[in-house]
Amino acid sequence: MIFKTLRLLENSISQILRKNLFTTSKMAKSKFDYVRNFETEDKLLQNCWIVIRIDGKGFHKFSDEHEFVKPNDLNALNLMNKCARAVIDDFNEIMIAYGQSDEYSFVFRKDSAIYSRRGSKLITNIASLFASSYVFHWSEFFPDKKLKYPPCFDGRAVLYPSEKNIRDYLSWRQADCHINNLYNTVFWTLVQKGGLKPRAAQERLSGTVSGDKNEILYAEFGVNYNNEPAQFKKGTTIIKRKEKIELPDGQSKMKNKVVELDCDIIGDEFWNENPHLLEPFKEM
Ligand code: ATP
Ligand code: ATP
Ligand code: MG
Ligand code: MG
Repeated sequence: MIFKTLRLLENSISQILRKNLFTTSKMAKSKFDYVRNFETEDKLLQNCWIVIRIDGKGFHKFSDEHEFVKPNDLNALNLMNKCARAVIDDFNEIMIAYGQSDEYSFVFRKDSAIYSRRGSKLITNIASLFASSYVFHWSEFFPDKKLKYPPCFDGRAVLYPSEKNIRDYLSWRQADCHINNLYNTVFWTLVQKGGLKPRAAQERLSGTVSGDKNEILYAEFGVNYNNEPAQFKKGTTIIKRKEKIELPDGQSKMKNKVVELDCDIIGDEFWNENPHLLEPFKEM
């Protein structure tokens, strides 16, 4: 008897709730559904290359805390490359990516329709996949170092409408890599080999142009900047391209490959060799 009464009570309560929550019977919409209209549309303009650039938050401190080798910790750079490959493997429409220091730029083809070109969806998915990959793969690159706190990456989307603009964007990032790396190489040489305090090294470099920096390295420390590793000077470019693979039966076939390069991407040579990178969609 008591159970029957309880069941009846429960039925009437849920009927009242349903009446108040759902506005019509035909769709599973609640009366709260209107709040969706407060969301703004953030569709990225058609016919433009989409660049998503992520950058580590406070990596100056992060690299200190985790005792990165200065000015270039190779393991840290390779971990960044590993994370970039995770993003490229997940997003088929990225044709080229460029990374240096704590940043990576991912270029989506101009006719990409991914997530209906919704900016926030793209930025957040890429930044979060990158950050989780950084943690996931950390121990492969730093087997003897414990991660002290979770790293974080910001992200932004920028649109480039012309081939010149997108090439200039990538040139800008590579030029930035060169400028910073030259500065950092001299700065840390003055500190590590020259015994200068960071403040003194900074003062020594203030107002110098690149020729002066090369000269300090060469004349005072016997270091030829040109012989520094290309990965440090040029950053890392990851592209997709078709490569010929030999089959066991002696035949060969073309297969898509993701390759990591440390070459110049400012001049024409790279683009003449890889014209497909900026061409419209073709099934790869
Ligand atoms: P923000 O949050 O504004 O990006 P940030 O401290 O991350 O601040 P950045 O301009 O992004 O500043 O610079 C990243 C810094 O991280 C570099 O200046 C360098 O000190 C350090 N860093 C990044 N990668 C490496 C590496 N592979 N080896 C050594 N240091 C690195
Ligand atoms: P999208 O990438 O568009 O967000 P999605 O597959 O993540 O796609 P959501 O609408 O976010 O779709 O729904 C998340 C789904 O994840 C749920 O429908 C459910 O199947 C599953 N899920 C999430 N949390 C749990 C959980 N705690 N237990 C069981 N399943 C869960
Ligand atoms: Mg940063
Ligand atoms: Mg940075």
